[in-house]
Amino acid sequence: MRCPKCTYTEDKVIDSRAARNGSVIRRRRTCLRCGHRFTTYEEIVKTKLQVVKRDGRHEDLDRTKLVSGIARACEKRPISVEQIEGLVDSILDELESEFEREVPSQAIGRKVMERLEKVDDVAFVRFASVYRRFKDVNQFLSAIKGMIGKE
Ligand SMILES: [Zn+2]
Repeated sequence: MRCPKCTYTEDKVIDSRAARNGSVIRRRRTCLRCGHRFTTYEEIVKTKLQVVKRDGRHEDLDRTKLVSGIARACEKRPISVEQIEGLVDSILDELESEFEREVPSQAIGRKVMERLEKVDDVAFVRFASVYRRFKDVNQFLSAIKGMIGKE
């Protein structure tokens, strides 16, 4: 790393520590020529995933959109914003490890449903009724019946 003071390119790392919950490494460095100390950050480059919609169109995977979609399903339910954010983060981590560039929109919907089902039944049905587009009424009813059976 080039020294910001004297532009010399050799330095020594004198301290490394995790920041932002381990997603970033912060390093203190000292220039081997002038002794100037400076800080660098290292973080994982996130891959840009593309969502492939049912009609074949592509669009950027938008975290904000995913959060607001789930938040809508969770309206007036005892689910905090932090919970929703955490849910979305874990979904995105999984998608990034499972897919290279393109993700079918159904795969995202399925992951959201898997998680909502464990968190809140009402939010699950709301989300499922929009995203799964139940093929027929019976399919929808059996999903609800399965939930009632759990209680
Ligand atoms: Zn220097």
